Amino acid sequence: MAYQFECSEDGCAFLLRSSSDEEVERLVRAHVRLVHGGRIDSADLERETERIERP
Ligand SMILES: [Zn+2]
Repeated sequence: MAYQFECSEDGCAFLLRSSSDEEVERLVRAHVRLVHGGRIDSADLERETERIERP
């Protein structure tokens, strides 16, 4: 299982893929804080994180 997050802010091309959902959460929170100066709801984070099944 892999997790992919694509930032939905205008003009932002941040894309993250990891096999760890904890890592995705940590790095996405850091990205939103540092780049957009804000924070992301757990619900938004969850909704925007895609789970990618791997064979
Ligand atoms: Zn972004």
